[in-house]
Amino acid sequence: MTTLPALSPQAALDAELSRIVELDRVIRAAQAEQFRRIEAARALVAEVEGVTDASPFVDREFAMRAFVAELGTTLVVHEATAGRLIADARLLTGQFEATLDALAGGVVCVGRVRSLLEIASTIPAERAGEFEALALGRAPQETPSAFRRRIRRLRDRIHPEPLADRQQRARGERRVCFEPAEDGMGWLSLFLEAERGIAIMAHLDALADAQQRAGSGSGGASDPRTRAQLALDFAADLLLGRTAADASPLGVVTPKIYVTVPALTLLGHTDQPAELDGYGPIDDDTARRLTAHAPSFHRILTHPETGAYLSYGRSTYRVPADLAGYLRIRDGSCRFPGCSRRANRADIDHTTDWATGGPTRHDNLAHLCRKHHRLKHHTGWRMTQTPNGDIRWTSPAGREHHSTPTHPFAPMSGPHVNAEGSAPPSPPADATQPASGTASTSATKSAAVGAPSDSSAEIEPPWATAA
Ligand SMILES: [Zn+2]
Repeated sequence: MTTLPALSPQAALDAELSRIVELDRVIRAAQAEQFRRIEAARALVAEVEGVTDASPFVDREFAMRAFVAELGTTLVVHEATAGRLIADARLLTGQFEATLDALAGGVVCVGRVRSLLEIASTIPAERAGEFEALALGRAPQETPSAFRRRIRRLRDRIHPEPLADRQQRARGERRVCFEPAEDGMGWLSLFLEAERGIAIMAHLDALADAQQRAGSGSGGASDPRTRAQLALDFAADLLLGRTAADASPLGVVTPKIYVTVPALTLLGHTDQPAELDGYGPIDDDTARRLTAHAPSFHRILTHPETGAYLSYGRSTYRVPADLAGYLRIRDGSCRFPGCSRRANRADIDHTTDWATGGPTRHDNLAHLCRKHHRLKHHTGWRMTQTPNGDIRWTSPAGREHHSTPTHPFAPMSGPHVNAEGSAPPSPPADATQPASGTASTSATKSAAVGAPSDSSAEIEPPWATAA
């Protein structure tokens, strides 16, 4: 057996690069194959759900939603991602087959395929073929960003509809979004017509300029804030309806917000920060300021070591100690696997239907967003719940998925444990009406259970009512 001569570093590098390129081709071919499989699975779902082309639109729609949920939970991706994969697979195996072939042959990457489909979806179908052919033409030589720039211009050139009409439609998409960022900050963005955006920026600049001029001209101490900071402060005050006379940093706004505070914070020493519901950790000063100025901030004590929620209820602020509030904290969001829709925007669903004897009790209630609420009632998705709030979902394909509460309350111990026995404690007395679709429940003081038997007398039970 002869030994191969050692490669020169240059030749070895060349060989590595060749392998990288080859792997890229294999990955792209596999992605094309995955799109084909997704489309094949979509066709099977109709059979599983017992839906045919003759079925009512609503049935076909629910079968599709069941599949979106099935694929999303299987791949552990957001449903929006799963939905896009399914829609892309359908387009690529139909109208845009040339693009799928280009992916399968390794000519374009999946990123360029997505760009192409995304932009093609914004032009009328009868021009899509022409768009696809021109878009793919120079794709192999272009970087993804160059490709995107070129096909954007291409779209504008071949789009038969005037820009004014397109803008009219795009305006329907206008909205405000909030995105958490690091260090107690976040981004608030407005998607709006360019002319209004420019006008708002000009207005904020003018307010900031005026403030800076007033500071430097009065002979007094000038405002230490930068122009950018001034513009932001004016914007926030305007949006909150806050005037200079308002003491609260939140102006006239009284949102229902929860601040969780580690028990030791009350004694002045802790390593754990307080948490703002819907955001995350905030510093102690901010937590104190918020709870002092806004009675609508509810305090929830947490265990200093485990972080488990100890109490929902008693604080120096008025708190509705009701079942709906308990569930909102426990669930945090919709309980469908992977869904992040906030609980305060979701329905409270009876896990076992009220109509078939399911009680209105904490371990038979869970938040489901409107979409997943309907999915549960109209498709083969099924759920069961355990007393600690864990939910087991079974998909139409028979796959199991689990959902755990965002904040499981700590189990209670001691002599006053409620009649149902061991942990977790029971929430307020059962409501007499089905809570489905609404969060209306009644709180009763009689449901409050006693203090734990250990020495932590500071720690009140989950259902202690307002002091
Ligand atoms: Zn949901």
